[in-house]
Amino acid sequence: MNTVYLDNAATTRVAPKVLEAMLPYFTEEFGNPSSFHSFGSSQMEAVEKARGQVARLLGAKCEEIYFTSGGTESDNQALRGAVKIDPDRRGIVTSAVEHPAVLETARALAGEGCALGIVEVNGDGELDLESLKKLVNQQTAIVSIMAANNETGVIMPLKEAADIAHKAGAVFHTDAVQMVGKSPIDVRALDIDILSLSAHKLHGPKGVGAIYIRKGIELPPMLTGGHQEKGVRSGTYNVPGIVGLGKASELALTHLKDAVIKEGILREAFEKRVLESCPGSFIVSSAASRRLPGTVTVIFRSIESEAVLTLLDMQGVYASSGSACSTGNKNSSHVLYAMGVDINLANSALRFSLSRYTTEEDIDRTVELLSKIVERLRRISPYTE
Ligand SMILES: *Cc1c(COP(=O)(O)O)cnc(C)c1O
Repeated sequence: MNTVYLDNAATTRVAPKVLEAMLPYFTEEFGNPSSFHSFGSSQMEAVEKARGQVARLLGAKCEEIYFTSGGTESDNQALRGAVKIDPDRRGIVTSAVEHPAVLETARALAGEGCALGIVEVNGDGELDLESLKKLVNQQTAIVSIMAANNETGVIMPLKEAADIAHKAGAVFHTDAVQMVGKSPIDVRALDIDILSLSAHKLHGPKGVGAIYIRKGIELPPMLTGGHQEKGVRSGTYNVPGIVGLGKASELALTHLKDAVIKEGILREAFEKRVLESCPGSFIVSSAASRRLPGTVTVIFRSIESEAVLTLLDMQGVYASSGSACSTGNKNSSHVLYAMGVDINLANSALRFSLSRYTTEEDIDRTVELLSKIVERLRRISPYTE
């Protein structure tokens, strides 16, 4: 059976060229880059090459990139580190629609005495900049606003948010895990101080990521140990993973323009055809001013999203009913909740996320299946306008 993978916001397949680049570092090239002998230290060249590849994708300098174990770690270090920079600044301001890696970390720090301000979003999932302005003050250590939301695909106004943070003397962090490699992002143009990214969301391997820290910002480490990465992130280098992230970044940059156009066209066709063939459906955040090219959440009124997911799954079509991290617990999406979406509607929400590997045939097959599934389920739970 041909499968259709439309859950690229949860994770992506490793690009064949990424795997190819990684393989030697599992076999012959197994040295420790921190070793004195040349067999180990020559591995450092591979790490530095990867650092350059990541830096280019972000418009950053090489020395501003530090390798971590992924998006969650980078987010943790950004928040946990920032509140330690200045004892008079321990406040955190973030949005209601952040990934749990930010939101739960912010809540944990609030439990340790940090002031926490949560910025609201409107019904389309767009950030309320006025609410942000009111929450930021001279005690704010860090403003953390995601680049693009993992459920709605809404792209946040990073430059405006960074300006508000900087006016109050706070550092500006963005969780750009969903944005990097899927839509252009430039840390200089957007005035970003700290940025989190993750390899497995851009066709790289799982368990590796990076944190960009603008030169001049002294972000305290979370891990103490062997002083790798100038002491910003201790721990023996995950050389294969780092090489994979580097290659994935290089490929992402090469494909970025084409992928944005292709995914945008496919997603728009998908949305249009779903609306036509599935009565009672609508697109979440359809009126938002900017969205990722390949991520869309659809609500099928009065239909349980789990039922649709199961029926799609049986036919080899994989989507999601929200973020993978929260699937399994029955709590519905905090993102849709923050947007004021009714709980019953939120339980009818399905996310479809494309990648540069998604084809027209994938979209055709999914739409055809969806229309049949929705029709079948509507016989059990009818929907009337
Ligand atoms: C996936 C994701 C993360 C977590 O990254 P990991 O590398 O899986 O730890 C953080 N933020 C966002 C927005 C994500 O989509």
